[in-house]
Amino acid sequence: MKAGFAAVFVLVAAPALAQQQDFSKVEVKAEKVAEGVYMLTGSGGNIGLSVGKSGTYLIDDQYAPLSDRILAAIKAITPDPVRFVVNTHWHGDHTGGNENMGKAGALLIAHENVRRRMSSEQFIALFGNKIPASPEDALPVVTFTDAITFHWNGDEIRVYHVPPAHTDTDSIGHFVRADVVHTGDVFFNGSYPFIDTSSGGRIDGVIEAAERVLAGTGPATRFIPGHGPVGSRADLQAYRDVLKAVRDRVAKLKAEGKSRDEVIAAKPTADHDAKWGTGFIKGDVFTGIVYDSLP
Ligand SMILES: [Zn+2]
Repeated sequence: MKAGFAAVFVLVAAPALAQQQDFSKVEVKAEKVAEGVYMLTGSGGNIGLSVGKSGTYLIDDQYAPLSDRILAAIKAITPDPVRFVVNTHWHGDHTGGNENMGKAGALLIAHENVRRRMSSEQFIALFGNKIPASPEDALPVVTFTDAITFHWNGDEIRVYHVPPAHTDTDSIGHFVRADVVHTGDVFFNGSYPFIDTSSGGRIDGVIEAAERVLAGTGPATRFIPGHGPVGSRADLQAYRDVLKAVRDRVAKLKAEGKSRDEVIAAKPTADHDAKWGTGFIKGDVFTGIVYDSLP
């Protein structure tokens, strides 16, 4: 178990230790998701991009060293400068470009808890990581408590906060007309998610948020996940189902009085690991996260 944890640490600690990461080989690529809506990938959380008659609009911005490459990828699609950046949550692999984007003229917007957590030193227990407070220029300028709607590029972009899920700072971005949802890290497409219990994250919240997104969308909706490829409704449903299955097994073992180590040893994810445990969160680590976040 120690070895598994160490391996995960090396891979997953990277987001929060961005300054030690080598970005020189990272290529930023754009994939069209719907008319006027793209997903940008590079390193870190997936970026949502809306272009059109109003201007350029981003959801999340990865890491600071990638800002030039992100802006170049956008420039290949539209000459318009970035007007808004919305952060889905506070993690550095989604907000690391904020300062650069703000200096380039974008207005930074996020749930008030994003600003609160970015304003002070944070600690992510799973990785034993301290994350220093962000500089003033990286902080969201406009904050909201429940939801905010952008009437932009002929679309209605509804950004709404969900109760603690991946963190207590999460928002979902719904491009209503384009029929695209940026889920932030509430959805890891094709792998077990990291749930940041140090930031108020909880398995039940992730399941509830997935249910809410499914309830508010239709059969043809495309999903930009926080991590992983663009997903379909079936992908999000499968993710919700595996989370529920693992959650129920872990909850039962915990209710029987089993310790954290005993629950992990019981391998409640075993039959799902071949499909869902090949990402950066392995079955054992996910079991521990679920155990920790259950009441
Ligand atoms: Zn995250």
